[in-house]
Amino acid sequence: MKFKELGLSDDLLAAVTDAGYEEATPIQAETIPMVLKGQDVIGQAQTGTGKTAAFALPILEKIDKSNPNVQALVISPTRELAIQTQEEIYKLGRHERANVQVVYGGADIRRQIKSLKNHPQVVVGTPGRLLDHIRRHTLKLDHVQMLVLDEADEMLNMGFLDDIEDIIKQLPEERQTMLFSATMPPEIKRVGVQFMQDPKHVKIKAKELTTDLIDQFYVRSRDFEKFDIMTRFFDVQDPDLTIVFTRTKRRVDEISNGLQARGYNAAGIHGDLTQKRRTQIMNEFRHGKLDILVATDVAARGIDINDVTHVYNYDIPQDPDSYVHRVGRTGRAGKHGVSMTFVTPNEMGYLREIEKLTKVRMLPLKPPSAEEAFVGQLGVAKEAVTELVNKTDTEKYASAAKSLLEEYDAEDLVAALLNDVTKDDSSQVPVKITPERPLPKRGGKRHGGGGYHRGGNRHGNGGGYHHRNNDRRGGSRNGGRGYEGNRGHRSNNGGRRSEGSGKRGFTIRKKD
Ligand code: ADP
Ligand code: MG
Repeated sequence: MKFKELGLSDDLLAAVTDAGYEEATPIQAETIPMVLKGQDVIGQAQTGTGKTAAFALPILEKIDKSNPNVQALVISPTRELAIQTQEEIYKLGRHERANVQVVYGGADIRRQIKSLKNHPQVVVGTPGRLLDHIRRHTLKLDHVQMLVLDEADEMLNMGFLDDIEDIIKQLPEERQTMLFSATMPPEIKRVGVQFMQDPKHVKIKAKELTTDLIDQFYVRSRDFEKFDIMTRFFDVQDPDLTIVFTRTKRRVDEISNGLQARGYNAAGIHGDLTQKRRTQIMNEFRHGKLDILVATDVAARGIDINDVTHVYNYDIPQDPDSYVHRVGRTGRAGKHGVSMTFVTPNEMGYLREIEKLTKVRMLPLKPPSAEEAFVGQLGVAKEAVTELVNKTDTEKYASAAKSLLEEYDAEDLVAALLNDVTKDDSSQVPVKITPERPLPKRGGKRHGGGGYHRGGNRHGNGGGYHHRNNDRRGGSRNGGRGYEGNRGHRSNNGGRRSEGSGKRGFTIRKKD
């Protein structure tokens, strides 16, 4: 549907055109007119379907630019999402000069206080920091007419429900409330009943996973075995562009560090990195300068890259919809993709849930042996050497080459070269990943037992899907890095191998 038909002002239509949006997405087409009419709305649509503009545009339409009070409040689960959302609203409201500010934890509060004094009409923020400002009286919410709970499923997962309640208590009861979410566990509907007035539900059906283009495998293994098995798979499959999904930020750090230590060209993204660093890593990945991206679900939201060849679910997602989001990163644009999901023995129930949703059986795979991994590595090494030979100005090295050939056996020289371009034997670079609390055991029923939001872990560090921001400030994050060995070293020949000598105990015999 055209934006023109939705009842938006010319300024906003111009901003939409500036942004390069040609047509409204289905969630935008359905919810914008409702919000303009003043209705409470619960909007569910897959990640990346433009939910931000779905509330940003009608909010911008409805706020009074000559009114200096905060008129719209958007609550976001993470710093990154809050920043992204502020940027999007700012961009769309530029022609009408809307003032949109963002507040989030882990950043200088004085600067935020200053920006709040600038009379924003729209404020975006994470729950903890919003409460902080409310308590300091640096954020006044008594003129708020519109409230958005964005990425509501993530906020519940992160245990923000109580904070959100506390914020809502500060808002006028006479207001419009919108809730947006990629998935809709029953708890969210309850939130809707509690804080909204006769909300209209809009559900955009998730695009079916184009499963015929994706080979979906699972590997049964214990948690502590996953890392070694995964790197063996990397060696055997030689994936081009890979995303590894993990359940926690700590794992993102540990796995990306461990992969680097073993010579893989990998990096991790999660909510604790600066926006700048995240963008940098994403660009490297997009341009193929990075082979493996390790990410949490939240960090991976909005990643739009077409050539991902492999998706590894290092941790099986708790929610089947998340699986579809994750695996949907591959098999795009008519290309073939592979997904690999690690399942610990007590997580088999989750696997069956996913299969029920996708209606496809995943095929079990056995972990490759060390020998198979080595054969895979050799194949890669041979290609690398061929490439090296092709791009080398051989004449320049001719005389040095001759003298080496006089001194050493040709076969030994090539073997040494192959050894050099081959990654370290994984057993020589031990990597230990800190165990995480396993998912609650689940039987066959979808929402039986464990539940989506487990109340008990709100203040604990252990179990949640992601840890909350505040819990992480204690500094334990870098305390327990699990890998030993070539810490952080990355070679400059494309990152294919680590530095280090004496790999596989290789020596070159001198010619007699
Ligand atoms: P969601 O919140 O549903 O995950 P976002 O609001 O973050 O999705 O939007 C995802 C991406 O799509 C963003 O880069 C956004 O700028 C872009 N986008 C939003 N609306 C449109 C549209 N109508 N046409 C094209 N791109 C759009
Ligand atoms: Mg969103």
